[in-house]
Amino acid sequence: MPLKRKILIAGNWKMNGLKKDARSLAAGLAKKNSSAKNQSVEILICPPFPLLALTADTLKGSGIKIGAQDCHSQLTGAHTGDVSAALLANMGCTYVILGHSERRINHGETDKQIKMKAETALAAGLKVIICIGETLKQRKAGQTLNINRQQLRYSLPVGASASNTVVAYEPVWAIGTGQVATPEQAQDVHAAVRKTLKNKLGSEEGNAMRILYGGSMKPSNAKELLALPDVDGGLIGGASLSVKDFWTIAQAT
Ligand code: PEP
Repeated sequence: MPLKRKILIAGNWKMNGLKKDARSLAAGLAKKNSSAKNQSVEILICPPFPLLALTADTLKGSGIKIGAQDCHSQLTGAHTGDVSAALLANMGCTYVILGHSERRINHGETDKQIKMKAETALAAGLKVIICIGETLKQRKAGQTLNINRQQLRYSLPVGASASNTVVAYEPVWAIGTGQVATPEQAQDVHAAVRKTLKNKLGSEEGNAMRILYGGSMKPSNAKELLALPDVDGGLIGGASLSVKDFWTIAQAT
């Protein structure tokens, strides 16, 4: 019998929104989830750091989880402007997104740094969402599978298991562009990621670990993507800023 992995729908608000937006988005989703019949999907919201407390408060009792978009690789110390995984856990976060392509590109984050951050996050009791993905140039050069395998191998934390780690495949050319991967392109990479996970973690863990797709997922394409055998959820940017769109995606399984 094929293994059933619980679908995870995660919203990455990025650097968007003020207090009023967070309040209204979180309240809208909390209302929908509290009365939802289908509780078989795990829903996660990742707001900017300063909106974590307000969003957590608004989501209380709704069953929707809260996460962050980054953390430092050290648990504490003299790191001006950074935020520790320990504080995120203390604020009520259950997950942290690490290695998003916007951080790899804008902040020069390397696989090694992402791995260190992930190990610290796990030590703080957080679950990690490790993002990987190729650029358009790499895809055109036929390097897609190799790039994704390599990023995965080097950024996966020691101690990764299906219960504490999620992988997100996010082709850089699909993020915020409206240009979504075709089901064939997505399944191709997800299957290669699954194989790498099995080789690295053993068949059982590799089979059980969730692999999300991210990159212009919308209500109009979510059903098709989420039905693919190795797609276990979505990491959603733009569409997570609308209650209606995000909720429609969460119900598309
Ligand atoms: C993302 O940034 O993780 C993302 C997938 O963005 P979008 O859905 O807007 O492409």
